[in-house]
Amino acid sequence: MLNLRYLAFPWTRATYKPLLVFSLLSALSLCLCQVSYCAPLQGDSEHYKRLRYKMVDKQIAARGIGDENVLRAMRDVPRHLFVPKGKRNSAYGDFPLPIGYGQTISQPYIVALMTELLEPEKDDVALEVGTGSGYQAAVLSQIVKRVYTVEIIPPLGKAAEKRLKQEAYENIKVKVGDGYYGWKEYAPFDCIVVTAASDHIPPALIKQLKKGGKMAIPVGSPFHVQNLMLVEKSEEGEIKMRNMLPVRFVPFRRKWK
Ligand code: SAH
Repeated sequence: MLNLRYLAFPWTRATYKPLLVFSLLSALSLCLCQVSYCAPLQGDSEHYKRLRYKMVDKQIAARGIGDENVLRAMRDVPRHLFVPKGKRNSAYGDFPLPIGYGQTISQPYIVALMTELLEPEKDDVALEVGTGSGYQAAVLSQIVKRVYTVEIIPPLGKAAEKRLKQEAYENIKVKVGDGYYGWKEYAPFDCIVVTAASDHIPPALIKQLKKGGKMAIPVGSPFHVQNLMLVEKSEEGEIKMRNMLPVRFVPFRRKWK
């Protein structure tokens, strides 16, 4: 007897079933290929994740960074989204990269080292001077409760604010202004990180550092090698400074244009 169901839907017939399964599988694998081919051009992906994990192993853990929170944050934050689109394939290289306006996103190892020096904890409130791309703030935000970050170049500050919002870094607040004065409204800070080189430590930053807090700051003349310094304020309010490493940062500036 003629089965009307097979007339209306011939592919449900037993003989067509292998063909149907084969076509569906082919379509699925075509879609998957397309997705993995296009992935490096989109948000995060297996491709970038692999590069990021390799970066942490080879450039960071292998050089002695051992704080698990820092390693986790460096594995989690998609650095390629913080560099200009044309430079995404170099985002996980062992070097700083230009981010426009003559500024740079620091080398991954330096970001990890500065973060580790602060010994950040989950209830800490942190200040960053020199938002740039927003990458250092994003890394820190994965460990502490809140990050306040100040950028003096308005288009960089605005772009970082937008990027951090888009990527849902909700515990970061960006301000455009001169970070020489810190951010009094939210002081004192458990940790302060300065990512531009100054010839002296801005007094306001020492003042806004909490007792028991730590600050990492490159000190020295601009356009030369500087010293990465760790400043610690004891529970009694005493200041101790240590030279950690020769570094090269973009200059701390007091105005833009
Ligand atoms: N932390 C950044 C690195 C940015 S480079 C990142 O992760 O991408 C240093 C930044 O410090 C530059 O964007 C520069 O414009 C900014 N800067 C320099 N002097 C400043 C100041 N007085 N106040 C705030 N930002 C400053």
